[in-house]
Amino acid sequence: MVLNVEKFMEDLIKKNPYEVEFHQSVREVLHSIAPFIEKNPRYAENSLLERLVEPERTIMFRVPWVDDQGVVQVNRGWRVEFNSAIGPYKGGIRFAPDVTLGTVKFLGFEMIFKNGLTTLPLGAGKGGADFDCVGKSDGEVMRFCQSYMSELFRHIGPNTDIPAGDIGVGHREIGYMFGQYKRLTNEFTGVLTGKKFTMGGSLIRPEATGYGVTYFADAMLETVGDSVEGKTVAISGYGNVGAFTAEKVAEMGGKIVTASDQYGYIYDPEGIVGERLAFLKDLWVVHRRPIKDYADKFGCQYIENKRPWEVPVDIAIPTSRQNELDEVDAAALLKNGVICVVEGANMPCTEKAIDMFHKAGVLFAPGKAANAGGVAVSGLEMAQNSMHYSWSAEEVDQKLREIMGLIHDTCIEFGQTDKGVNYVNGANIGGFVKVADAMIDLGII
Ligand code: GLU
Repeated sequence: MVLNVEKFMEDLIKKNPYEVEFHQSVREVLHSIAPFIEKNPRYAENSLLERLVEPERTIMFRVPWVDDQGVVQVNRGWRVEFNSAIGPYKGGIRFAPDVTLGTVKFLGFEMIFKNGLTTLPLGAGKGGADFDCVGKSDGEVMRFCQSYMSELFRHIGPNTDIPAGDIGVGHREIGYMFGQYKRLTNEFTGVLTGKKFTMGGSLIRPEATGYGVTYFADAMLETVGDSVEGKTVAISGYGNVGAFTAEKVAEMGGKIVTASDQYGYIYDPEGIVGERLAFLKDLWVVHRRPIKDYADKFGCQYIENKRPWEVPVDIAIPTSRQNELDEVDAAALLKNGVICVVEGANMPCTEKAIDMFHKAGVLFAPGKAANAGGVAVSGLEMAQNSMHYSWSAEEVDQKLREIMGLIHDTCIEFGQTDKGVNYVNGANIGGFVKVADAMIDLGII
């Protein structure tokens, strides 16, 4: 056996105790690539796998800021520069109270494969802080972002490390961080992506992840002679990913009937379209309001303390956070005849849930393939920034669609089995091969 996954994991856990989400993401990748490495042992030479799971650099720093009462608050910030074999470090920043080093490492590790799949020259990184924007004033968010960037700016650059948004980091936060970077460096460059169009952002970047998720779902269904058209769809969440997935699904003739937050979900059997979709799009991204507001406004059902996976649907798209869909949810979806599950968020399905979907023969797309449209359009934003130019929405959308098609092709190439396509294996092996080939050619670094 070239790669003993159990032994490898034992060592990894010993070296990185408590980072359970990081362990989970590494274990999933190792299980996928182990049979491939058995046939291609050169990929395990020179401790390539040991190097792959060790970030090139981890930065941890204090983020002090003054709240509206004049009290000094102290948060912790991280940037994990994971792998730069195929391009500069690239990946978002997450601000949420439960963020730990383990969260940032799992997200950074996912970016290695995701970015490898995009066909663009993007390395992998991720950042974060244990900061909760909910209930904070605009001034507090600005001071926090400025403090975060006051340390981060010395580690990043348009050809070194290019952060973007993630949970808790949208246009507003990117704007404040970009403002501080500009002020500290006296440079206007593409050092952050996900900027507003007015300050050099790309058209379609807010929509990109959700649109890409839908294109990917459609491509998967096409392999079995089907499409998104006419399908009933459940999503969790209603941030950028969820809202723009809803928009694209509706445009392609499907019907989204749920959306959710941590307190409950709404069920709207008529479908979230027109005025309802417009309301949903602003609800979190602009107003940071709970999903219950949707039910109050449109008089549909609000189910408290439950997740939307109990509703009978053809397609399920979790777009909110890691491990939000477990084996109980998977059983409910399967019982109701789900045919396709697409991860809009990063690692939203537990290992057990994924196993159940595979065993049931359901089309299952891992986030690192299905949600790669976001970072792909970030790559297109970098290209536009370095050309000092911008493409039209149509141009960007067409490139996004093309890239999602290429990612789907890679999944088929590396994930084909006699029982159909295993997209988890396809995405993990496809992303791995691109990065590992570059690592081999770059020498032992
Ligand atoms: N945070 C997003 C992701 O997980 C986007 C990253 C980016 O645009 O750099 O893919």
